[in-house]
Amino acid sequence: MPAGYVCLTFDFDALSVWVDRGQLTPTPRSRGEFAAVAVPRLLDLLSRRNMTSTWFVPGHTAHTYPELCRAISDRGHEIALHGYAHENVATMTEEVERDVLDRSIAALTEVTGARIRGFRAPAWDLSENTVTLLNERGLRYDSSMMGHDYAPYRCRTGDRVDASGTVWGTPTPLVEVPVSWTLDDLPHLEFLTSPTRTLPGLRDPAEMFANWELDLRYMLRETEQGVLTVTFHPQVIGRGHRLLRLEEWLDRISAHDVEFRTVAEIADLVADGTELGRPKGNGPSH
Ligand SMILES: [Zn+2]
Repeated sequence: MPAGYVCLTFDFDALSVWVDRGQLTPTPRSRGEFAAVAVPRLLDLLSRRNMTSTWFVPGHTAHTYPELCRAISDRGHEIALHGYAHENVATMTEEVERDVLDRSIAALTEVTGARIRGFRAPAWDLSENTVTLLNERGLRYDSSMMGHDYAPYRCRTGDRVDASGTVWGTPTPLVEVPVSWTLDDLPHLEFLTSPTRTLPGLRDPAEMFANWELDLRYMLRETEQGVLTVTFHPQVIGRGHRLLRLEEWLDRISAHDVEFRTVAEIADLVADGTELGRPKGNGPSH
């Protein structure tokens, strides 16, 4: 067993995120098109290092770029769900959410032939129905929540939280492989504007990767077989200066005793009873 695991994840939003944002004039659309330029660069970069990864692909992207999606799958990477047109499921009725989920499963299956194991919510926001819907479809994992940094855990249903207090619900078979905004390239690097807000981004990627390396070092020092899950977007990370920093970071962290795994592989370990991310010593895991 390695000292820890790293999950490299890529959210291949392409044009779908601009559909969701309602920004469909030619220039925002072209920002989505750039994702398709970046994907082959990323696949080559990963192949050169013999690294596996997980790609969260909206159904809209699968239908827009079927050959690229097949190339991702054919090179041994995992393909997983990310909505149909990058819809925020937190605002949907259960009926609409079920329909979008089934259409997105159908799109990925039709285009890649891959067996779909997991889900990542667009904008990382779930509805109260999401965990039940994913369990009903036999999916293994979600990767959208933030209840831990290094330890996957079981998703619950029926939590009740309000001003009077907290009542924990019931754990389900669905495994959560948690994420964080601090481990996402988009808020660090991407400049976004809309009528209501501006995300400045455009930070030095070396600074972002230095933070992520410290998170990894802390994980290896303090936990047994922790999991560091980082999130990239091809349209963000796929530019020259960022790709060179990504390559440097991958080569540096490869010097540690870590293995690169897909999110489904990590979720399978947890489902099979392996505890990942337990604090070293006798401390409680949560
Ligand atoms: Zn996304």
